[in-house]
Amino acid sequence: MSRPSTVSAPAVTPLDPDAAISIRGLVKSYGDRNAVDGVDLDIRRGEIFALLGPNGAGKTTTVEVLEGYRRRDGGDVQVLGVDPATGGRRWKADIGIVLQSGAGDSQLTCLELLRAQASYYADPRDPAEVLELVGLTEKAGARGRSLSGGQRRRLDVALGIVGRPRLLFLDEPTTGFDPEARRQFWSLIRSLRDLGTTMLLTTHYLDEAEELADRVGVIARGRLVEVAVPAELGGRGSAPAVVTWTEHGVRRTAETATPTGFVGELATRFPGEVPDLAVARPTLEDVYLRMIGEDLS
Ligand code: ATP
Repeated sequence: MSRPSTVSAPAVTPLDPDAAISIRGLVKSYGDRNAVDGVDLDIRRGEIFALLGPNGAGKTTTVEVLEGYRRRDGGDVQVLGVDPATGGRRWKADIGIVLQSGAGDSQLTCLELLRAQASYYADPRDPAEVLELVGLTEKAGARGRSLSGGQRRRLDVALGIVGRPRLLFLDEPTTGFDPEARRQFWSLIRSLRDLGTTMLLTTHYLDEAEELADRVGVIARGRLVEVAVPAELGGRGSAPAVVTWTEHGVRRTAETATPTGFVGELATRFPGEVPDLAVARPTLEDVYLRMIGEDLS
């Protein structure tokens, strides 16, 4: 068989016109350092996608390029079919942004803030309905600065969605929330998904990514290490289970690919319950920390 006379360049998959977000070879540098170093990614319409990564990995830089706030140095990007570097008013109206620090310090009441924000859009949501959606109806007449931290974040989300965005960016949305507020917030995000909103979320909370995200992407040193559904990340779906129990007063541990059979056999050694029995698979945090550790080592 004859060999080709020229070596062809690696095939570059074209941008996906059906995706909410399509990225090919994204590069953004500060000085001589690439903060984002060749990221390829497609985010489907209607999906919740979580971008995970350690501090300084390049998450915010990537998201800011997608929002049209930062110019890229290389690569192709389309957000809702438009290059964010040239996105005009109509494109911006389709995008909602919930930043890390919001507008909670305002002198205006929650309802006034939402009405003011809604006035920028051609087809906004009803501000009172939005307050209800985020659970702030009782705070309609309260000034932003009188709200608790969790209530402010809800107000931030309300401001991000009042324009009826098709795509919502959420940057670490539940930082500082108590556990109950976080769960309420998650159900808000799910109801937005039910309304058809695509969401790109950055978070340092792995349980949040597991709860909310259809898929997660891990970014480290500006490169996308893996994209997967949370249950499959880092080979998690096929990882052995760890069975632990107590026998003769000693804590025992075994790794097994067939935990059901293992536990069945174990049960025959005890007259009743197997003491302190637990079966665990690697958590999202376990595989994430391993991936990040491997990348940094
Ligand atoms: P975190 O989880 O801490 O928010 P991140 O993943 O969002 O981190 P980025 O904010 O995107 O990370 O930063 C990526 C890299 O780019 C970091 O090394 C950061 O120091 C650098 N960087 C970000 N913004 C600038 C800037 N305006 N000028 C110079 N360097 C920057």
